[in-house]
Amino acid sequence: MGRIRARNSLDDKRMDIDEGIEGAADVGPYAALVQEQLALVGEDPAREGLIRTPERVAKAMQFLTRGYHERVEDVVGQAIFREEHRNMVMVRDIELYSLCEHHMLPFFGKAHVAYIPDGRIVGLSKLPRLVDVFARRLQVQERLTEQVAEALDEVLAPLGVGVVIEAYHLCMMMRGVEKQNSRTITSALRGVFRDDARTREEFLSLAHAKLGA
Ligand code: ZN
Repeated sequence: MGRIRARNSLDDKRMDIDEGIEGAADVGPYAALVQEQLALVGEDPAREGLIRTPERVAKAMQFLTRGYHERVEDVVGQAIFREEHRNMVMVRDIELYSLCEHHMLPFFGKAHVAYIPDGRIVGLSKLPRLVDVFARRLQVQERLTEQVAEALDEVLAPLGVGVVIEAYHLCMMMRGVEKQNSRTITSALRGVFRDDARTREEFLSLAHAKLGA
């Protein structure tokens, strides 16, 4: 993960301390909010361990919500190729991290994305990036699944698209709302994935198959 260049030497120094935290835009207003939040939960924001926390949280949030500033066309634009291949193309087990919009707590898991081309294919490495455009926002898993399917449908106009997401939600796990290991599975099907039973079954069995370890 590359670090974004900071603006001035003070920021450079902070970046060294907060290694791995990205973001170069002004995080001041958000950091001020976090400082207030620390006091509201009963902390002393001036305590040594918390002094830089507001800035760290602000930068982390900036990174975790950067999808708001990304566009699908920019992510996949140059990587669409003419190709007469007409079988299912699938990328399984795409790592996924998002934030639920109800609690702003993480949910994480895997996405499986497939399509059947109609004269155009997209570079395989672009599919995880496409997932991230929507995952790096406040989300509900159902909408995230639909948005990935819709974006791929729009950008490629394929014969069909299938997306399955399986995820664990910390808002359920940490608050003890559900059993610790309950996994939420959502799917979105377009075109032949929805209309043709055989294609749908092939996709779903590939998505849910246990491959390797
Ligand atoms: Zn939640």
